[in-house]
Amino acid sequence: MANAERSSLIDPRSGFCKSNSTFYTKRNPISLPSSPSLDSVSTVKSDYVKATSSSFYIPIVCLAVMSLGAVVTTANTLYTAGEISKQIADSKPKLVFTTVHLAHKLPDGIFIVLTEENEEETTRGVIGVVSEMMKKEPSGERVRDRVNQEDTAVMLYSSGTTGASKGVISSHKNLTTHVARMLAESSLQEQVFICTVPMFHTFGLLTFAMATVALGSTVVILGRFELNEMLAAVEKYRATTLILAPPVLVVMTNEADVIKAKYDLRSLDKVTCGGAPLSKEVTEGFLKKYPTVRVLQAYALTESNGGGAFMDVVDSGRYGTAGKLTCDVEARIVDPDTGRFLGTNQTGELWLKGPSISKGYFKNQEATSETFNREGWLKTGDLCYIDDDGFLYIVDRLKELIKYKGYQVAPAELEALLITHPDILDAAVIPTIPMAYVTRKPESNLSEKQVIDFISKQVAPYKKIRKVAFINSIPKTPSGKILRKDLIKLSISKL
Ligand code: AMP
Repeated sequence: MANAERSSLIDPRSGFCKSNSTFYTKRNPISLPSSPSLDSVSTVKSDYVKATSSSFYIPIVCLAVMSLGAVVTTANTLYTAGEISKQIADSKPKLVFTTVHLAHKLPDGIFIVLTEENEEETTRGVIGVVSEMMKKEPSGERVRDRVNQEDTAVMLYSSGTTGASKGVISSHKNLTTHVARMLAESSLQEQVFICTVPMFHTFGLLTFAMATVALGSTVVILGRFELNEMLAAVEKYRATTLILAPPVLVVMTNEADVIKAKYDLRSLDKVTCGGAPLSKEVTEGFLKKYPTVRVLQAYALTESNGGGAFMDVVDSGRYGTAGKLTCDVEARIVDPDTGRFLGTNQTGELWLKGPSISKGYFKNQEATSETFNREGWLKTGDLCYIDDDGFLYIVDRLKELIKYKGYQVAPAELEALLITHPDILDAAVIPTIPMAYVTRKPESNLSEKQVIDFISKQVAPYKKIRKVAFINSIPKTPSGKILRKDLIKLSISKL
């Protein structure tokens, strides 16, 4: 679509643009560097605490490896040796950087570089190996003389909450688009971040191994998420910004009185939440307890490298939405049954297109053509709608919809209702009949019937919860997504 044609469609109030089939947001235009360059990287003022799923060494190693034109892949630290072996067999890494605590999970015969916690020697070791790599590959050849925008930089394995995990191919252009978008938000520079999201996931890696490095922000790295350690770090380092998965907001809200009595959180200005749905109820509950903190909402996928939607919940006054489209993507809402492009306020699959969208999956043509179409649109698998002001609402994961007697039941809708019950701490809904796994609050005697009745009063008959099981905690990925496949396995084993 020509620019002139586009500008006539812009709503000057919201900056939201729409044509018959495409939506985008016009604000903060970003310019990409003409070629990927690390020259602009300023000092990382990271404060190292301890290393596991995130580490001071990850940005160093990643940037060094990418500057060679070699490709970085990361593995979930919770993976079993078997899961890691599968990823190794698929990606065939030449070198693996890990810690002594995790090295036992790696198969024999792989070239391992150990990084150790807070040891000068390791720093020298890592820097030594990386500088050797800068000169040549282990095979004796320089990796690449010139790194181009379209070259692959990173291959992250998608979280695999639904299907098998796949390597997402992200180019230097995809990543520099993300960094340029973050740089356009100049206020980020003065922030002191606590890194609690794992750096092996797109959210942590793109934010803390790339964007904050380019911004020269101060980052306090916590090896893994532990609530008290994180809160103590906010107090100690006068941190301004937390990047959190939604379940952490729930805990911070439930425990707010104890937390506020124990920690001085006055420096805290922003909490950016992403990776999984953040409901209106959770947002409101959090803001009631922490009225001076701004909640920001970010929606993206591993395949979109940070592109998607973003907003300041309080500024926008919209709760429970994923925000407005980031300035680097165009969006379509597509009827999943007919392929028809839908208009505003109509629910369908969200498609995204733009310079941050990945090229496809590694060595998996079938999955690539299922998810990326020929025109470069990424089919997100998320069922969404966009309202008249350009706010994106995530209704559910398309693949996770439950078909009950031919009707579609969205687990996320029922989960959002379940957690409004005063005795429910957390909940997950699984197929094939709508069944709920519920974590009760301590001391609660809530029964299956009470849960079923609570939902029945609020939904259409086909959406009723038919069965309830109680569980100590809902299994989730580090980015806060419910591991529904684990609960399905559990429910089958109990039959
Ligand atoms: P991943 O590739 O692990 O980052 O997972 C991407 C998926 O996480 C998306 O397709 C969504 O289903 C979900 N997701 C990410 N951010 C949000 C958000 N802010 N709200 C709702 N769902 C989200």
